[in-house]
Amino acid sequence: MRINLVPLGDIAQDIMGQLKTRTSHIFGCPVNIESAIAVPEHAYNAERNQYLATDLISLLDKKGGGDDDRVIGITEVDLYAPRFSFVFGQANILSHTTVISLCRLRQEYYGLPRDEALCLERATKEIVHELGHTFGLGHCPNSRCIMHFSNSLADTDYKKAIFCAKCQPRLQL
Ligand SMILES: [Zn+2]
Ligand SMILES: [Zn+2]
Repeated sequence: MRINLVPLGDIAQDIMGQLKTRTSHIFGCPVNIESAIAVPEHAYNAERNQYLATDLISLLDKKGGGDDDRVIGITEVDLYAPRFSFVFGQANILSHTTVISLCRLRQEYYGLPRDEALCLERATKEIVHELGHTFGLGHCPNSRCIMHFSNSLADTDYKKAIFCAKCQPRLQL
């Protein structure tokens, strides 16, 4: 099993490197950085000024990989899903493909000073959460657990980047 990180659009190399190291540390498996692919224009919704997360996932699905492999797209564009004003990330459990957006993880999105370390910490949490879904986990009621559903950044900041004692043994790595 391998985890493949795919930049969707321009993502700084040091961010990709950091996310690779952290993801590999948490799951204890090889993590690859694939070559970047452009964010598909057909995913763009001009009325919302956002991109449809499932369109990005479908694009990543076509990249294939081994049956056991996990694919996670990283993008700077703002993502949405029907019935949600935005999503931090989304997973296709069947294809083991996921996507996360850095857009709303950035302090500057909220008019605050840039904080790269905080952005990386949040991005790591979103990655671990979405990958957790592809390893068979649903949402967890423990608000400190990484599988807790994040409605807001406060939820993301409150939870830890690790699985709780109930979720950890249920991970199907
Ligand atoms: Zn979730
Ligand atoms: Zn849990």
